[in-house]
Amino acid sequence: MKKIIAVISTLLLFACLQAQQLPRIIILATGGTIAGKGASADRAGYTAGKIPIEDLIGAIPQVKKVANISGEQISSIGSQDMSIEIWKKLAVRANEIFDRNEADGIVITHGTDTQEETAYFLDLLISSDKPVVLTGSMRPATAISADGPKNLYDAITVAANPKSKGKGVIVSFNEGIFDGRDVMKMSTTKVNAFFSPNTGPIGQVYDGKVEFYQASMREVNVKTPFSVSLTTKLPRVDIVYMYADASGDMIDMLVAKKVDGIVIAGVGNGNFNKAYMDAVKRAVAAGIVVCRASRTPSGRVVLEDEINDEQLGTIVSDDLTPQKARILLMLGLTKTKDRKQLQQYFFKF
Ligand code: GLU
Repeated sequence: MKKIIAVISTLLLFACLQAQQLPRIIILATGGTIAGKGASADRAGYTAGKIPIEDLIGAIPQVKKVANISGEQISSIGSQDMSIEIWKKLAVRANEIFDRNEADGIVITHGTDTQEETAYFLDLLISSDKPVVLTGSMRPATAISADGPKNLYDAITVAANPKSKGKGVIVSFNEGIFDGRDVMKMSTTKVNAFFSPNTGPIGQVYDGKVEFYQASMREVNVKTPFSVSLTTKLPRVDIVYMYADASGDMIDMLVAKKVDGIVIAGVGNGNFNKAYMDAVKRAVAAGIVVCRASRTPSGRVVLEDEINDEQLGTIVSDDLTPQKARILLMLGLTKTKDRKQLQQYFFKF
């Protein structure tokens, strides 16, 4: 009898020690389709953000062998309702987790619609080099062949892997690993929804194995001058879309609203027509910072190329999409209104 007790105790001790050695991962849940519930398995219609994080983790018991997991519900929304308030909560909590050494990595579950924006916002604000991995799903948990459990399992695997350190905020989706700065939602409904049109994926996760093939050269993965607290009021920056024969009315409306910055989702190399040109001049004269980006999903907007930015008083987004240029401009404007300094941010981060 004594022998049996001794063997059981040794086994329990061994199991405990093993569990202690596993990386500690905290999941910050925000909602999205990954937590979505549909009326039946064969219907695509569903409500996002209905399933609590405990149940999402419960659906992948295998993950207990990969990491020690705990979860926190930050919000329960579809990511079309993502807000600056929730972004600030995520950034503050993530930095707090790492400052207090509460975890070795963070996974954020998130709707796919604005996942790329949250990834870049956090990329600019999280100061630790420990892994931060966003994921989500295209099919709700109740659907046939739901992709959420697999994506969550993979994201935890990526966050728990030491190779993921120093990569900035990354997105793990459909077995691809993407840089938070470059990734973009590229399909409205398909499970391979994410891609980085300029750079491609930086790595892959398959069968519990993580491999990286390239890394971003941008300093966003190192350190930025930006920081936020829960009470920080971010400058207002809006995006205006350019299209054939557009009038400058939207830009004039934003000038009247006294916004702090405008990003133009221009055509091609950040171009716009004469009506926009005149309206942009009025915006710049009103002290608004105007950034030229492009509605074209790949390539960069080149400074002083087709448009004389020096003369017009504009800056360019480089290869950031309009929605990401807005984020960098919002944070940049918390530091300076100087056009040259802001432009440098776009070449650095
Ligand atoms: N629109 C919802 C969201 O972004 C559902 C899309 C999704 O998560 O895939 O949260």
